[in-house]
Parts: sequence; structure tokens; C-alpha cells
Amino acid sequence: MKIGFIGLGNMGAPMAVNLAGAGHEVTGFDTAAPVPAGITPAASAAEAARNADVVITMLPNGPILKMVAQQVIPAMTRGAVFCDCSTVDVNSARVVASMATAAGLGALDAPVSGGIGGAQNGTLTFMVGGSGASFATVSPLFEIMGQKAVHCGEAGAGQAAKICNNMILGATMIATCEAFALADKLGLDRQKMFDVVSTSSGYSWSMNAYCPAPGIGPQSPADNDYRPGFAAELMLKDLNLAQEAARSSGAQTPMGALAQQVYEQFVEQEDGRGRDFSAMLPRFVKLNS
Ligand code: NAD
Repeated sequence: MKIGFIGLGNMGAPMAVNLAGAGHEVTGFDTAAPVPAGITPAASAAEAARNADVVITMLPNGPILKMVAQQVIPAMTRGAVFCDCSTVDVNSARVVASMATAAGLGALDAPVSGGIGGAQNGTLTFMVGGSGASFATVSPLFEIMGQKAVHCGEAGAGQAAKICNNMILGATMIATCEAFALADKLGLDRQKMFDVVSTSSGYSWSMNAYCPAPGIGPQSPADNDYRPGFAAELMLKDLNLAQEAARSSGAQTPMGALAQQVYEQFVEQEDGRGRDFSAMLPRFVKLNS
């Protein structure tokens, strides 16, 4: 396929490289990042999109996505698919999908989980909103860039799935960390705490697969001095998007709201920026000391 790839940052560059490595013809554009070897550089986003069967965007946020979509959609061939893989608000995803549909294009919102390692190794998970026909067109590309793609529903459903998942993750990570810090205060050994909780009703992905306590459970960023992993500021971004979605849809999300406040404090006012989101545990230990 001919692919236009716009946004060649930490995630976009390795994703584009994997597509080119599988034999697709990839033309790329970024306003700042270098175009990696194997990708044909374009002078603008519109030029990268011209004649492409699929245009993939991997950009920082919704306003930038909408601006790029305005430049790119008029340059695209009718019947081609605009596939955004960035994490953005549900409303921006829906606006961009209607712009594309009105121009006779297919449209998908396909945010990912798996981080930079997943992008490099081609093991991302895609959560996808949009038509079944567009999903079928782009599926072979999802298979190259990732190991799983779930078609979640119509436009915006991929972003909805992503922020709901990460809202649960943010809240359970905080709960797991505050419980470890409470256990410390009560003189309960961390290994014993893990042995009980990981096989009892308090278990979760945060405890069992990504344990925030160093030296306990499987290898995790806690064992690497809390280097990310999944950085606290990216968790804050997703919690902000979840709150925006809750406000605009009128949903009650008290735990999500509190998780957003705690990560905001950690990132904006404490030392959370640049640390893994599980560094919430040493934060609570410090607050309790
Ligand atoms: P990044 O900042 O490294 O990459 C974004 C790229 O977009 C940059 O290179 C920037 O120069 C480029 N860009 C900005 N404006 C542009 C424009 N108008 N035209 C063309 N290019 C433009 O960010 P990233 O880590 O690659 O993340 C990209 C997206 O993926 C974000 O939405 C992020 O939330 C999401 N995401 C990131 C991770 C992660 O672990 N990094 C995990 C899952 C999802």
C-alpha cells in the first residue's frame, strides 16, 4: 500500500519504519522530528497524503490533529482512509471523522497501548472506532504495527475505550500504591502484602503485572528506579481526557476525578514528571514519613 505517515515522534517513527520494513511504500512528514531511513520525506503533510491509500497520523493532541486533518483531507484521494493513532479527546476524533467522511474518505480513530517498546517491536494494541470497511482496509497495517486490534464501534469508540481503560488504570495504581504505603506504616512486609493481594480480591494489573514495589512481583519500572515505562505525565494526559469526556457526556466519575487531581499534583507540583506512573508509591512513602 501507499501510506502517508504524519507525526514521526517517539511512537510514529518506529511504527512507520515497521510498515516500510514490511514492504509498504511510506512517505512521511513531521514539523520537527527527523524522517527515519526507509521513509520518503515529504515537504508538507498534504504532500505526504497525496495518492496515499491510507494516511496515518501520530500527533500530540486534538487541536493539532484537527489542524493537520484540515490540511491533509483535501489532498487525499476519494476512497482512501484517514487513520488517526494519536490519543485525543473523543470530540476531536468525531469531528475529524465527519470531515473525512464528508470528503468521501474512510476514517478511523485507532489509539494504541503498548508504549514506545510496543511501537518498536510491533506489539501495540489498537482500539479502533469507525466503519467496518475502513477497519478491514487498515487491518493488515495494524497486524504489522501491533499484535491485536479491537474494532470497538463507530467514530470515537476507540478513544472512548482507551480513556476508560486508562482511567481504571490510574485509579487502581493510586489505590495499590497508597495500600503499600499503609502496609509499610502498619509494619506489614511488602512481599507478604504482594503474596496476599495478588491472589485475593484486591488483585489488579497494577499489582500483579506492574507491581509498584521494587524487588517484588514481576520485573517492572519500580525495579529500574521508576524510569518510564509509562510516564506520569502521559497518565495525567489520559486522565484529563477522561474528565473532559465525563464533563461533556454528563457522566459521574468521582474516582477518575480524584485520580486526575492526584496525578496533576504529582506531575505539576512534585517530582513526578519524567518518572514512571508507578512512582506514586515512593511519593506516598515520602508523604507518610
Ligand atoms: P511525540 O511528541 O514524540 O511525537 C509527536 C510528533 O508530532 C512530534 O515529532 C512533533 O514534531 C509532531 N508534530 C507536531 N505537530 C505536527 C504537525 N502539525 N505536523 C506534523 N507533525 C507534527 O509523542 P509520542 O510519544 O510519539 O506520542 C504520540 C501520540 O501517541 C500522543 O497522542 C500520545 O498520547 C500517544 N501515545 C504515546 C505513548 C507513549 O508511550 N509515548 C503511548 C500510547 C499513546
